[in-house]
Amino acid sequence: MNLVLFGPPGSGKGTQSERVVKQYSLTHISTGDALRTAIRNKTAVGLKAREVIERGELVSDELVTEMLREIIRPLRDTTDSFLFDGYPRTTPQVEQLANLCEEFSLSHPAVINLHVPEETLILRLTGRRICADCKATYNIYFKPTRQAGVCDECSGPLTKRVDDNPETTRERLRVYHEQSAPVLRIYGEQGVLYTIDATGSTDDVAKKISRIIEENY
Ligand SMILES: [Zn+2]
Repeated sequence: MNLVLFGPPGSGKGTQSERVVKQYSLTHISTGDALRTAIRNKTAVGLKAREVIERGELVSDELVTEMLREIIRPLRDTTDSFLFDGYPRTTPQVEQLANLCEEFSLSHPAVINLHVPEETLILRLTGRRICADCKATYNIYFKPTRQAGVCDECSGPLTKRVDDNPETTRERLRVYHEQSAPVLRIYGEQGVLYTIDATGSTDDVAKKISRIIEENY
């Protein structure tokens, strides 16, 4: 079984990826991590990517896909089940992923899309606070501390991520939706897209994902 997981920043995609990977023994392929590793290990693709990035340009679809090919090839002997995270991001990548699946005899992936209303995402992202001392995480709207600005665990001061202001957050979400809409449209037309309401608890969302997998795969 192969999955593609979609979700905007603040949708809980990272947490759900970890859970689903463990529960169904999938190999997690995150293109962001993969790119950093390829660059660090100076693979052929990593060297090409570094050149492009140093010129201030975006890594092409072909190069991203080539990088995935490098990752899948040595793993394919031991597994046929992957979770793709952050890929495909563009319409050409949709076709390239389909080709990779043919090439490596992988089943075509189901696409799960975590939907959370924009206003909830804004609160989740802008309300995040982290303890400067023990790194405990809070949210002023959803998981406040007993005393404002003070960590429940160690009484340390709470800090805010600099980029978690409403304006930057709205822009990040706008870019995300602009990029993902055409990709989701294609998967919708192919009948492999499952959009779920991801506003509930982590457990609730995990159950919804499991139900889709078990009913369809
Ligand atoms: Zn603390």
